[in-house]
Amino acid sequence: MSEYQRICLVHYHKIGLKGHNRASFEQRLLNNIAYILKDRPIESIRRISGRVCIHFSEGISFEDSCSIAEAIKGVPGVARISCGYVCDRTMEDIDDASVQAAHDVAPFNTFKVAARRNHTDFPVHSMQMNCIVGDVLSEAFPDATVRMKDPDAIVHVEVIEGAAYVYARTERGVGGLPVGTGGRVMCLLSSGIDSPVATWRLARRGAECIGIHFSGRPQTASTSEYLVDDIAHVLERTGCIARIYVVPFGDYQRKIAGAVPPQLRIIIYRRLMFRVAQRLARDEKSKALATGESLGQVASQTLDNIAATDDAVSMPVLRPLIGMDKLEIIDNAQQVGTFEISSQDAPDCCTLFMPRAPETHARIGRVHAAEASLPLDEWVEGIAAGAIVHDYRCASYMSRKHPHATSSNDSQ
Ligand code: ATP
Ligand code: MG
Repeated sequence: MSEYQRICLVHYHKIGLKGHNRASFEQRLLNNIAYILKDRPIESIRRISGRVCIHFSEGISFEDSCSIAEAIKGVPGVARISCGYVCDRTMEDIDDASVQAAHDVAPFNTFKVAARRNHTDFPVHSMQMNCIVGDVLSEAFPDATVRMKDPDAIVHVEVIEGAAYVYARTERGVGGLPVGTGGRVMCLLSSGIDSPVATWRLARRGAECIGIHFSGRPQTASTSEYLVDDIAHVLERTGCIARIYVVPFGDYQRKIAGAVPPQLRIIIYRRLMFRVAQRLARDEKSKALATGESLGQVASQTLDNIAATDDAVSMPVLRPLIGMDKLEIIDNAQQVGTFEISSQDAPDCCTLFMPRAPETHARIGRVHAAEASLPLDEWVEGIAAGAIVHDYRCASYMSRKHPHATSSNDSQ
């Protein structure tokens, strides 16, 4: 039996996709996957019949093909992936390739064949193919029996255009929409557990995510900046982060701490963080901010405090974790791969100049009064000018020229 060329078919949900929308969605998904697979042994990647089809290089090992499939699974927009073989559209080749595909999922007790053809120019119709391939598999796997309902293995045969695609291995992908189809969001990114998950969830809905990290520098060490960079490298593997602005914030916290009532410090730090984020978001043509807050998770994440921070900016502030429990967020962080990094302790601006009894129900009038004497506009400009930019691999974002294109981190 000959070794057929290995392929991987990427399926996505077609709900709500029509006409032009669908073509640009497919193209975006294809570009995002192609970007992630840039240095991998891939011969081609193209759209066929509502899927993205990846042809692996000749002679690629089973293990390498699995590791590539693993990488693709995490890319937003991928609903399912199927790994198998492409062969000529002759029944002889289809039979052989089906046995090979079934070996990839062996051992199994029950199986069925699911064949379909895209064009009636292929003379054998689907039911006939099911029977022919079923017989061949019964001979090759004499201990296995055919079962229509919930079989252990399903061998798919798809005759599409000039070739036949045969596969039995199918796995779920991360779902969602391709990054770059949902606009751009400026995400407030600490090195904690929550905000990387919030960022990932927005990327999974198609947003191009730009992070902004406020470090306690020069009042603290830069540990949190390294952790945020490590987190970004994890998010980058699936194209979920485009860029991060690192903003030294410690001196401004010191100034605030010396000028406002202690219980209002945190609110006022946060209002300044939001203003700086909005200022940089406008440069980035991003239309929303995002945080990792979850209602009532810590004393400061109350509705009053959320209202008091949102009052500082005019952009919508998205909070994708607002209704999630901490344990759900931790599970999600483990799935994304950021949990271990986020569990390391690092002083960031949050640990600096903290009051003993922070306000949990800030009254907006008092906040405005406390801020009245601060040169906020000047600070926002100064802080934004001091931001350091790190770029990451995000296909849709990289394809456009940007005024700050001085990448300080050409990761890999
Ligand atoms: P996280 O786990 O994301 O650090 P948290 O549970 O520590 O969140 P807070 O400290 O109240 O909660 O922060 C709430 C949100 O504010 C964070 O999810 C993040 O979006 C933003 N934020 C907090 N600290 C920083 C920081 N140093 N830089 C950027 N954003 C921050
Ligand atoms: Mg935190």
